[in-house]
Amino acid sequence: MIMAYDQQNFMRTDCPLDKDLLGYQTWGLLHTMAAYYPDHPTPHQQRDMYNFFMLLAQFYPCATCARDFANLLRVRPPVTSSRRELGQWLCWIHNTVNRKLGKPIFDCALIDERWKDGWEDGSCDI
Ligand SMILES: Cc1cc2nc3c(=O)[nH]c(=O)nc-3n(C[C@H](O)[C@H](O)[C@H](O)COP(=O)(O)OP(=O)(O)OC[C@H]3O[C@@H](n4cnc5c(N)ncnc54)[C@H](O)[C@@H]3O)c2cc1C
Repeated sequence: MIMAYDQQNFMRTDCPLDKDLLGYQTWGLLHTMAAYYPDHPTPHQQRDMYNFFMLLAQFYPCATCARDFANLLRVRPPVTSSRRELGQWLCWIHNTVNRKLGKPIFDCALIDERWKDGWEDGSCDI
């Protein structure tokens, strides 16, 4: 049998995802999607993005995460009117999950540096 490893962390890369890795990778996709969402989305795009998050909360493959996420969306539904609004909304959602799990709160002013442009000091460009 051939086993695949992450060369830097010596972690297996060919096993089913656990809750944390699934979460980490999902946040990566969601924040990157928000970072590249149009500044001026059409009504159709706004509706599709809204539905995307509602469906994600229905099918997210971690039962307790999905239940709490769906409750959160009921309190604060997706804001899909622009790239900026979506990014800030998602940052707030992620911070709410962070708070629940006792993780650090992320500064939402840095959302583009983290997920689109790279840090201002150029450390992502090396
Ligand atoms: C919708 C959803 C619900 C979840 N619910 C649960 C749950 O109920 N219970 C549970 O145990 N786990 C849950 N998770 C997983 C959990 O949120 C983490 O992904 C997991 O614990 C791994 O955490 P991490 O420390 O690697 O960083 P993550 O929280 O995965 O964050 C990844 C990276 O995102 C950046 N980041 C952090 N906060 C923000 C923010 N507010 N805005 C923008 N970028 C940010 C940071 O650079 C961080 O390194 C959920 C994940 C998702 C996607």
